Amino acid sequence: MKKYMIRCDMEGISGIVSYEQADPKKSEYQYGKKLFMSDLIAAVSGLIAGGADEVHIYDEHFFGRNIDLSEISSISSSDKIFVYMGKPPYEEDWAGGLTSDFDGLVLLGFHSKKGTKNALLNHTYENDIEDILVNGISVGEIGIETMIAKQMSVPLIMITADSEGVKEALQLEPEVIAVSVKESLGENSAICYPSNRTSQMIYDKAKEAAQRKWNRPVEDYKTGVHMKIRLADTIYSKEYLKMFSFPEFREKTVLCCWAKYWQNKLKVMEKL
Ligand SMILES: [Zn+2]
Repeated sequence: MKKYMIRCDMEGISGIVSYEQADPKKSEYQYGKKLFMSDLIAAVSGLIAGGADEVHIYDEHFFGRNIDLSEISSISSSDKIFVYMGKPPYEEDWAGGLTSDFDGLVLLGFHSKKGTKNALLNHTYENDIEDILVNGISVGEIGIETMIAKQMSVPLIMITADSEGVKEALQLEPEVIAVSVKESLGENSAICYPSNRTSQMIYDKAKEAAQRKWNRPVEDYKTGVHMKIRLADTIYSKEYLKMFSFPEFREKTVLCCWAKYWQNKLKVMEKL
């Protein structure tokens, strides 16, 4: 039984070079979604061709409502596919559906962390976050998702991202199968390729990722995890600091810290 989880983001999808294409409230979003579905279908089909028995998809972009289920149903063996929509928040004991019986994590459509110089759409989750430090090391979305998976002994097996996102992933996990779907030229520009080319690249690598034998990582935070979140100066952060103290957590795992932050965040959002 081979089981994989795909975590989806949108800024690192083929052809996306602006938030205009990735923000559901913006006019170019429908085109962005089309590009997103093309990459996603290639990744799922590749994993299934490589022998996956189950592919779980967790959509974490914006409200988690970016997946077109009718398009997903075009994939044969659609009985192997499970889709988590609506971005259910991670809990201290629930990592967005990821459990230790998964054989690998795929990050689809990711990007470099906030502050990566001149890098295409660089950011860390939301505009409100400047940086996340885990035991003193600065990480972005790629780092956090990989650490949470590691804690479950699930290896990061593949990433698709822009060239800068790929660089960041390879620094963290040199073994990961990486697909650079566009060459970052600046915060809002990249060299992109025709969709059939990126689809083929993603399909081939996903197949290879499912066929490869991966070692399960061991993440043992002997002294626990210290997570510090540097907030940008926004209305949200002002409200956050009114309700809670500076976001800093000391827990057993990265997931616990991240879930604690999210519990607070959701309370702040209710007030805004
Ligand atoms: Zn993102």
